[in-house]
Amino acid sequence: MGCSIGAAIIDQPGVEPTEALRWADLALYRSKDLGRNRMTFFEPKMDMALQNRRSLEAELRTALADGSLRMVYQPQVDIHGRIIAAEALLRWDHPQRGEIPPGIFVTLAEETGLILPLGEFVLRRVFEQTRDWRKMRVAINVSAEQMRAPGFAALVARLAARSQIDPARYELELTETALLSDEAETSANITALKRLGFSIALDDFGTGYSSLSVLQRFSVDKIKIDRSFVSCIADGGESEALVDAMIKLAKALDLRVIAEGVETAAQRTRLASCGCSEFQGFLTGRPMTAEAVATLVGEAQDAPRVAIRRRG
Ligand code: C2E
Ligand code: MG
Ligand code: MG
Repeated sequence: MGCSIGAAIIDQPGVEPTEALRWADLALYRSKDLGRNRMTFFEPKMDMALQNRRSLEAELRTALADGSLRMVYQPQVDIHGRIIAAEALLRWDHPQRGEIPPGIFVTLAEETGLILPLGEFVLRRVFEQTRDWRKMRVAINVSAEQMRAPGFAALVARLAARSQIDPARYELELTETALLSDEAETSANITALKRLGFSIALDDFGTGYSSLSVLQRFSVDKIKIDRSFVSCIADGGESEALVDAMIKLAKALDLRVIAEGVETAAQRTRLASCGCSEFQGFLTGRPMTAEAVATLVGEAQDAPRVAIRRRG
């Protein structure tokens, strides 16, 4: 048996019992967050953190409608440095707080269920912006919560049909944890998406609880070696051995492999000597607007639609 405790000290008069209990509750949540089996006293900053979260959540709902969310695209290059694909990444330009990193607001959206409308926004926007690309493939991040939502594959199919995109040019990026849960809905969605022609990439490979059987069970097409391995590969040592093993594994299973977070030429050279032939990172291109990446590659952009208006 385990036990987590939250406690609040009432050192001022006039505190309502319900308020005191709410404080103790917040302290209890903190005990659980910190790994359970401990006792935590309430501190006012815990309340502030909660209020902050609530207002951020409300603001994210507004952002979905008011245009402060946008997509940027980071180039993925081949061994010759040619841009062959781009990963769509979400940005939130908050009118007061400035740019909020997706690591914060995507996580918040996942915890509050907002990820479903947010994810739909991403798919809709990316399909619209990249519909006319012919030379580049496009990678889109999908959260575990989206993949386990009943009807997710059907939604993607509807959005794809509406934008008239070719699913064969699109890759959905999932994390290992998304696949680990092995829920019937996740597996049904993946099967349906693959049947439509989408491919599946495993993001941040090596950082989750990698179960190798997952790669085959979900017929993953590609793995993305996480930045944490890439960042120390040029120092030699363990990282290089791990990256080498990952690439060998990918080849043995006939999977494509890309290294992410490549920042230096030395890292790229080491990766290439391990057999990696696709790269993504600040070295070969920062995230940029759809227009910027399309211009770099010489893609036709979103052909202007002609509007004919009759007078009189
Ligand atoms: P990710 O999918 O692994 O994306 C790669 C992240 O690494 C991006 O951060 C990118 O800007 C950053 N990065 C790329 N190259 C380098 C490099 O050379 N050095 C360093 N230090 N960083 C590099 P970003 O855009 O902040 O996104 C963070 C995470 O947020 C993403 O990780 C992804 O998990 C999530 N995310 C972003 N956009 C979306 C989205 O539309 N939907 C969902 N569900 N998640 C998203
Ligand atoms: Mg990704
Ligand atoms: Mg990643």
